[in-house]
Amino acid sequence: MTFMEKLYIPAIIKGMLVTFRHILKRRKTIKYPEETREFAPVYRGMHVLKRDEQGRENCTACGLCAVACPAEAITMTSAERTKEQKDLYREEKYASMYEINMLRCIFCGLCEEACPKEAIFLTDRLVPTQFERGEFIYGKDKLVESKEHRIDIPKRQFKGKRSTI
Ligand code: SF4
Ligand code: SF4
Repeated sequence: MTFMEKLYIPAIIKGMLVTFRHILKRRKTIKYPEETREFAPVYRGMHVLKRDEQGRENCTACGLCAVACPAEAITMTSAERTKEQKDLYREEKYASMYEINMLRCIFCGLCEEACPKEAIFLTDRLVPTQFERGEFIYGKDKLVESKEHRIDIPKRQFKGKRSTI
């Protein structure tokens, strides 16, 4: 080691130059959660089970989404609609129980593609973090949109045949 090297001065100067170079550069990080990034148009996040214009649930519990799901994340139980329930469900059959295990889901969107009733969509919402595994089982209480607060479907789903929802 030379005398200068023993003083670590060149190494310190080199390190400081790297620091100063980065000070002048634009930050690549953001202050999450105060700031959030805009998602890509093709982003697929948390599911929503949609209602029609009259507020009735679109899902008819046909099970096609569950069959299409490669992660076997969807389970449901079907029931027959009664006369009194005509305002609640669009079809004669409906899902009395519908669950998605968000820990299994890989957000591939195949359930959305398989659905013939335009009932399930993946939105641009994030699945919130939880401490317990059981809290990631999302039932109808979390999946079906409320009549008062409809959930927007991202633009990517409006391409092609889906243009009137
Ligand atoms: S997004 Fe894919 S993995 Fe998730 S529930 Fe739908 S089909 Fe299954
Ligand atoms: S969400 Fe669609 S595919 Fe799945 S059970 Fe309901 S109607 Fe069938």
